Amino acid sequence: MRKIWLVILILLAAAPALATEAADGAEADAPAKTEPAVRQPQDLKAKFTGAAAEVFRLIETEIRPGTRRSLRWFSPQAPGGFAVATPVIVVNGSQAGPVLCLTAAIHGDELNGIEIARRVVNSLDPKKLRGVVVGVPIVNLEGFWRRDRYIGDRRDLNRYFPGSPDGAYPGRVAFALMKDIVKHCDAVVDLHTGSFYRENLPQLRADLAVKQVANLAEGFGGLTVLHNAGPPGSLRGAATAAGIPTVVMEIGGPLSLELKKVELGVKSLETLLHTIGMIDRPRTWSRPQPVFYASQFVRAEVGGILINRVKLGAKIKTDTVLAEIIDPINNSVFEVKSPAGGTILGRAQNQFVSPGFAIFRIGHKKSKEELKQKAEAEKETQTEQLIEELGANEATRDRKP
Ligand SMILES: [Zn+2]
Repeated sequence: MRKIWLVILILLAAAPALATEAADGAEADAPAKTEPAVRQPQDLKAKFTGAAAEVFRLIETEIRPGTRRSLRWFSPQAPGGFAVATPVIVVNGSQAGPVLCLTAAIHGDELNGIEIARRVVNSLDPKKLRGVVVGVPIVNLEGFWRRDRYIGDRRDLNRYFPGSPDGAYPGRVAFALMKDIVKHCDAVVDLHTGSFYRENLPQLRADLAVKQVANLAEGFGGLTVLHNAGPPGSLRGAATAAGIPTVVMEIGGPLSLELKKVELGVKSLETLLHTIGMIDRPRTWSRPQPVFYASQFVRAEVGGILINRVKLGAKIKTDTVLAEIIDPINNSVFEVKSPAGGTILGRAQNQFVSPGFAIFRIGHKKSKEELKQKAEAEKETQTEQLIEELGANEATRDRKP
């Protein structure tokens, strides 16, 4: 009996570990988290009752239908003695509909998302909106002030969800965000950029094995969708597990404001709001179909100075030279060749790299159905492997005196 429970616990702990997002940045100090099993996520369509909207309550504030309010969220980030609050903007539409939440800057140095959230939330007309939009443009206020990815304690806040009220500091902030904001949402779009001198082609990250997440991802129109489960401890994983379908939108790189990419992000979010029925068509915008991808990393085999040879979005073939890594002392050049054909979804900027550094993420175009099957197959293989490993461990232990 104990063995079965152990298997279940290990499966729960390991399920998100396949996530490739975790290899994106310096998440090595991230604590492993067990997340609860996925609750059936909500169906957004059921929220459009056609009725007039009701008062929306958030952070002990009542927001009347057809109005916009700026609220102050006192998270554990507020130091004692004086009040520092994170701004939260709420637009309560005049008609009933779902509550869509936009969170940005969980990593304090990711600026594009802050601007995307600002533009989207402020462009909404509360009189015409169906449902509620909640914007938390700067979740990690502390990191933002310091131009730092991390929250205080040098920790990655996005590895501490769902958090706990009596755990480590970032876990407390995560818990408060879940309790005070996220649990009041019917769906969440969490805005990010690449980390540490890496940049990403504008893309969504979504666990297509969860139907409502897949539906949400499709609503953005022509944005690239990369299928993977959220990394352990991420807001995306924790919120989805709590029954709130969540996707991540990755736009560009950290510590810069890339206005073209910001515009694309705004347009994609407006498309989502339109597709799910919260706003009327925002502007002339044909709705291209999303393109779905699985992905793999290309890592540096040698250390040295990286010089890129391909751009984001480039279509490449097997053996295409993606970059050169130059040994500055011996003046030798190592060519990084593509292990497969595909599209460059993410890349490191030119910099010094060590062996093993993830320099490219290559996307392989797939149908949504293929990706769903892949996700299911991965889960099965993982289960079998874990049971096998566990069996082997038990056998080893049994042999010991
Ligand atoms: Zn991020």
